[in-house]
Amino acid sequence: MNVYLIDDEPLTLVDAGPNSGTSLDVLQRGIAGLWHSMEDIELVILTHQHIDHLGLVSLVAAHSGAEVAAIDVAVPYVENFSLEAQADDEFARDMMLRHGIPEDVATALQSVSRAFRAWGSRVEVTRVLEDGEAMDFRDRTLHVHHRPGHSPTDTVFHDRERRILIAADHLLAHISSNPLITRPREQGGERPQALVSYLESLRATREMDVELVLPGHGEPITDHRALIDERFALHERRAGKIHRLIAERPRSAYEIAQALWGNIAVTQAYLTLSEVLGHVDVLLNSGRAREVERNGVSVFEAA
Ligand SMILES: [Zn+2]
Repeated sequence: MNVYLIDDEPLTLVDAGPNSGTSLDVLQRGIAGLWHSMEDIELVILTHQHIDHLGLVSLVAAHSGAEVAAIDVAVPYVENFSLEAQADDEFARDMMLRHGIPEDVATALQSVSRAFRAWGSRVEVTRVLEDGEAMDFRDRTLHVHHRPGHSPTDTVFHDRERRILIAADHLLAHISSNPLITRPREQGGERPQALVSYLESLRATREMDVELVLPGHGEPITDHRALIDERFALHERRAGKIHRLIAERPRSAYEIAQALWGNIAVTQAYLTLSEVLGHVDVLLNSGRAREVERNGVSVFEAA
């Protein structure tokens, strides 16, 4: 994954990487290569709640005394990391069973997720950011924009003058950012429609005047509009394919995933479920699909 150092005042690190000895080593060497040390960092900005981005933040903050900035909606998540992750896992399990994923797969995936949790850690947010605010540095201003979808807390940072967008996992060159289904913010609330809000977020980013997008993984992006249009086309094709599958016969989300991708590796079960449900949401919203229950499992039929 990528982290960025903004050589300005304050000296700023954008994301910190997963909580592991190897990535700490890489991070320290990377910072030293830019003639600074971890102790010099004055501000760490978080782009979203995923563990591969926030795991090392508390360690960096403890070593340097840096402020930690994150958008308001991310605060409860990063400050209560393990409780939130636990609740996410329980929600994921319910979702998997409800959508036809076999119980042994759901159970196996839960232990994988528990093991992964060691890559994360909680951190206190000392500077709460708001959607639309401007962060002033000595030599630049970054505009903060909330772009939910890939995760509910995705935040991008726009340097209008340099036409640079720090976009983290909101837009990636080599893979489409999987909009993971997440639990509702309030107990018992409606499940957020991750793909629907992701597409909305992409439309907003498409309008931005940007020359260079700095992603959370992989290479920088120089033509964000072409890439976003590719993503729109991909999602449209996939929704059409899913619509044809449920027009043949009603299917659960798991059956749809199997029809699309064949035998799915256990570790991919939740990702593919998220992908299918995202498109089903699009079809449900436009009245092209209906959700019905069959033996405690949700199935979707063409409307
Ligand atoms: Zn992510």
